[in-house]
Parts: sequence; C-alpha cells; structure tokens
Amino acid sequence: MADAQNAPRVVVIGGGFGGLEVCRRLARANKRGEIELTLVDKENFFQFNPLLPEVATGAVETRHIVYPLRSFCIPRKIRFFRNKVRAVDPERRVLSLHNDLTIPYDKLVIAAGSTTNFFGIPGAEQHSFVFKTLMDAIRLRAQVVEMWELADQASDPNVRRGLLTFVVVGGGITGVEVCSQLTTMFRTTMKHLYPNVPQNLVTVVLIEAAETILPGIRDSHTQVALGHLRNLGVNLHLSRKVIEVGETAVRLDDGSVIPAHTLVWTTGVRGTQLAHPWPWPTGRGGRLVVDRSGKVADGVWAIGDIAEALDADGRLVPQVAQGAIQEGRLVAENLLAELSGRPPRTMKYIDMGYFVGLGKHSTVASVMGIPVAGWLAWYLWALIYLFKVVGLRKQIEVATDMVKGLFVEHDTSQVHERRRILRERDLEPDLSGRVDQR
Ligand SMILES: Cc1cc2nc3c(=O)[nH]c(=O)nc-3n(C[C@H](O)[C@H](O)[C@H](O)COP(=O)(O)OP(=O)(O)OC[C@H]3O[C@@H](n4cnc5c(N)ncnc54)[C@H](O)[C@@H]3O)c2cc1C
Repeated sequence: MADAQNAPRVVVIGGGFGGLEVCRRLARANKRGEIELTLVDKENFFQFNPLLPEVATGAVETRHIVYPLRSFCIPRKIRFFRNKVRAVDPERRVLSLHNDLTIPYDKLVIAAGSTTNFFGIPGAEQHSFVFKTLMDAIRLRAQVVEMWELADQASDPNVRRGLLTFVVVGGGITGVEVCSQLTTMFRTTMKHLYPNVPQNLVTVVLIEAAETILPGIRDSHTQVALGHLRNLGVNLHLSRKVIEVGETAVRLDDGSVIPAHTLVWTTGVRGTQLAHPWPWPTGRGGRLVVDRSGKVADGVWAIGDIAEALDADGRLVPQVAQGAIQEGRLVAENLLAELSGRPPRTMKYIDMGYFVGLGKHSTVASVMGIPVAGWLAWYLWALIYLFKVVGLRKQIEVATDMVKGLFVEHDTSQVHERRRILRERDLEPDLSGRVDQR
C-alpha cells in the first residue's frame, strides 16, 4: 500500500449499516494512515431503522435510536462531511455535493441506501406517509395523535371513522410491526387518554398484495403473526392491491374504497438515485449491479440496499441490515486487497435469521435457523437490538425505554408543529358543530 503522503483517497457515500461497516473495517486496517478515508452523509447521524416503528408510537424516544456520525468518525481518524452527494463523475473521479462543493476520490464505495417505490400508483406519493427515516417516524406519530385529537372533537361518526382509520400498505416485517405497534398504542394508551372517542370506530387496516404476509419467514411464524394481528383487531386485506390513494380515501383493486386520513406506505424499495442516469448498469428498482466481489466498475463498489448483488450461490442478497453489513465487510476487504495487489473474495451471504417484533407475547424470530417465539423471542429481540444499537449511551437509553415500556404508557406528546401536519397533507376536516364536553 502507499505511504501516508501518497495515500489513496477512499470516499464512502452513506453512513448507514453498510457504510459504517466499511468505514469501521477500513479504519481498523489503517493504523498508519495508508489511506485517506472520508465519509459523506446527508444526515449527521446514523439511524437504527429496526426501531422506527417503536419511535413512531412513542415506545422508544426519538433521539435514542440515532448516533452522531462525528462521534463515530473522529476517534477513527475518518474525515466526515455532512453533505448530500448530487452527482458522480466517474471520468474525473469526482463527487459533486451541495453548495457547489466537489470531492475527488481514488476509490469509491456507494452505500446510499434506498428510497420508497410507489410503483406509479396514482396519489400514492402525494398522500402516503412513507416510513424510512426518523423524520418519517416523527411525522407519523404527530399525525396519529392529531387524528385522535380531531376525532375527540368531531361529532359526525363518518368524519370520526375516517380520522380513526389507519391504513398500512405492505405486509412485510415493517408493515406488520407498524400495525402491531399502532394497535398496542391505541389499546394501552389512547383508549384511556381519549375516553370520548368511540373505540368501535378505531380501525387499523393492513393491505398486502400477496396471499399472505411476511415473505421469507417460516410458515408457522406467519401463522402466529396473522393470529396476533387478528387478535389485535387489525383488518387484514390479503391478495388486494391499492390502485389509488386520495387525501381521505384509498381505493383497492376489488373496487372497494376505505375512507382514511392516514395511509402508511411500507412496501417497495428503490435504490437511492445519486446520478441521473447512473453511468453504470442498473437492475431491479434502479439498483447498481455489482459483481460477486461487490464491484460496480473500476475503483467503484456498491453495498447494501443500493446494490443488486448475487452471492456465491447465485441468490440475491436481501435488502436488509445484515446484507448491507456483510457486503460492507467484504468490500472493505476487497478494497484493501486491491490496494495491496491481492485478488478479491466473493460474496457468501449467511442468513442469520430474522425478528418480527409483535410485542412481548407474540414476537417471532429465527436465530441461525432456530425458531423462537413468545416471551423468549421478545427478550432475544430486545437483547440483540440493544447490542446492535451503536454507542453505549444509546444502548443504555434504548434499554431504559424497553424496560419502561413494560410498565408505562406510550408517550403521546405531539412535538411536530400541528399546523404543519395539516398543511403538509392539505388536511383540515370539517368538524363544524358543537364539541361534546362531557
Ligand atoms: C422501518 C424500517 C425497519 C427495518 N427493519 C429492519 C430489520 O428489522 N432488520 C433488518 O435486517 N433490516 C431492517 N430494515 C432494512 C435495513 O434498515 C436496510 O436494509 C439497511 O439500512 C440498508 O443499509 P444501507 O447501508 O444500504 O442503507 P442505510 O442504512 O439506509 O444508509 C444509507 C445512508 O446513506 C445516506 N444517504 C442517502 N442518500 C445520500 C446522498 N445523496 N448523499 C449522502 N448520503 C446519502 C443516508 O442518509 C443514510 O445514512 C428496516 C428498514 C426500515 C426502513
């Protein structure tokens, strides 16, 4: 490898699960400063996505699932830029950022994650709550509380029904967890705080285009999850597609219309688009096609949700955190190998299992192929997530929230400005009439 003065410039775009793993590995091998390592992220924090449903329902505090990227970078001697990459110029090997800034690179790792895919469904992008970022979770929590506040003051049952219907699109892990968290919050907290709101009008609806929910998990666990959702009173629409989303209603492919002011879109993933079009081949959902060593082109690698990667057995590496982390580990090794003139390794994805957090009695998990359910699965879920949250302080904070959650109600403070929620969604339902003060 080069000496410190001629150190190759390695730039990583995105400080998510994949990007942090690359940085961690490269920094560990870079004790003598043989590479100049830079991380660029449009946010100044890492966010732990698996706990977003808990944040959206006030079960875990907002700031507890994020970790400042500078706290990660500075001790590891990584240069950090909080900026958004707008374009990549592979000819000049330069990234363009906001404020007309540019960063040159010799080696580039793209780990910019994914965005929501609405599949061109009319109204979906305008009227849905997406669920990818911390701000999305904050917005959803504020919206949910807003709907209950408005329903508390409305008198027309039809208006109330629309306000109190919460539709979740997508029966993957995120959609199922959002439904489960919402219903738990409604039963344990909202019911007591809004005694005026008729509980029979509160509905959580889950819409899934496939015949069943939770693709890729054990059949027996799918059955547990279905039973759990039914017990919670979630209204399941399986083998149904959303064909149109309006401000206050959703239309399905069987012609039915569900009046609802809140629709959460948890299905569909597209690779983040940093260049229009990418100068390299793309595959499904606009993802960068990588070879089995994680490479996109000469000196460029892609990992995580933004990459379409096949492992040694020819299977697609799934768009989950463990996929991004394993790809990050491989690409860091291969990048160092290239700098030292060694051959690259190929991807061998190891499926470590899954967790579907449905609450303490019904969580289902598979850990290295061993199925676990109920309380034990919940403890494991809490323990493993705790272990994976970055930083000791955050681990303590999340642990406190999880223990607290066993005894106290959800926090329903609406910190997002109320006017903004209504303006963003162009929503001001007609509540005219006298408020029932009893
Ligand atoms: C609600 C939710 C729950 C999930 N639950 C689970 C789970 O339980 N288990 C699991 O395995 N997976 C889960 N996932 C999926 C998992 O989070 C992703 O697969 C994983 O985060 C992908 O890692 P990544 O590094 O590719 O992208 P990310 O972790 O998303 O990181 C991408 C980074 O790139 C940055 N970025 C994006 N665009 C730019 C730009 N133009 N310039 C600079 N920076 C940019 C972003 O700010 C972000 O920090 C969940 C995802 C969501 C949304």
